[in-house]
Amino acid sequence: MLTVLKDTDIKGLSEVYDSENRGSFISLYLNMDSLDTKFVGRRKNICKSVLKEDKELLDNFEKTMQMIDDYLSKHGGEKGQKGLAIFASKIHNFFSVYPLGLPVENLLIVDTSPYIRPLARLVDEYEAFGLVLLDSQRAKIYVVSSGKVGYKKKKAADIINKHKKGGMSQARFQRLRKGAINHFFSDVSEDVEKLFSNDDIVRIIIAGSGNAKLMFKNILPPDIKSKIVDIIDMDFDDDGLVSKAEEIILADEKETREKNVSRLRDEILRHGLAVHGLKETREAVEKGQIELLLVNKGYKIRGWICEKCQVVDSGVKDTCPYCGSRTSEVDVIEEIIEFAERTDTKIEFVGDNPILDELGGVGGLLRFK
Ligand SMILES: [Zn+2]
Repeated sequence: MLTVLKDTDIKGLSEVYDSENRGSFISLYLNMDSLDTKFVGRRKNICKSVLKEDKELLDNFEKTMQMIDDYLSKHGGEKGQKGLAIFASKIHNFFSVYPLGLPVENLLIVDTSPYIRPLARLVDEYEAFGLVLLDSQRAKIYVVSSGKVGYKKKKAADIINKHKKGGMSQARFQRLRKGAINHFFSDVSEDVEKLFSNDDIVRIIIAGSGNAKLMFKNILPPDIKSKIVDIIDMDFDDDGLVSKAEEIILADEKETREKNVSRLRDEILRHGLAVHGLKETREAVEKGQIELLLVNKGYKIRGWICEKCQVVDSGVKDTCPYCGSRTSEVDVIEEIIEFAERTDTKIEFVGDNPILDELGGVGGLLRFK
């Protein structure tokens, strides 16, 4: 089964770490769309030679890789699978697998905790959406999440033909027909409400030919209506629907991201509820003040972490100033993302955006100050 990624999965992963600051976790991401069969072997050899000096870590690395290799040899990938993410650590008895319907870049990372950034990005970039295709007597309802098209429901109404039967007046016939169509729409609307009310679905598209889609839109309850991002004209039997809808959704998400960066800028100008730059943002994330964290997609900052004290900072420090333990080198942005996941903070990954770059590549809209 392909994984439908949820924030809760990532939250769970963000809470896992090696309290001894040992690089005992392996995170593996594989692009299954065009699988590079040599990738894992290559990274394995490099990591092994680097770990040679540390017997305990090398031993854990080899055993953990064995768990991963066993999994890979048994599972060739399934229908529709485009990516794979595995997080594992033998000494922590930890093994977690996510077959994905979305493509990821190949990565094999050894660190003190699972490397969740690519996964968090997928959740942000492919938010679930709902899709309704209908005419006056047929409807299909879809939920698309994590690249997986859930074909949830198909309905057909029992609607009297366009041509009246003998003995009935034209007016009466039209009334009955209209009544039957309305009945059908409210029936579909009830299903839509059940399937789309869930918080994970933030965008909805209605599609169909002719007037039906507009009539249908009008009877939807306000909370569903407010999630509609587009109404598109499309033949009921056109099979390009889902990819067309995906395009629209991606464009809408991009627009939302840009709006959020503007909101951040405006709040900063007003000296309002916003932070930016590494230090301020990190502190606000740790205090759970941030409502929406904005991160430049490719941004990394070299820093250190003491997992024992849960302290992170930029720059280079070999030993923790609080407990004296040996620290680990980290990407501070990844650590901010992990903290954010733990505190249920929504994260937005922003592409090349000059405003956010200017603000230090990272910032946040605050819930409170
Ligand atoms: Zn420490």
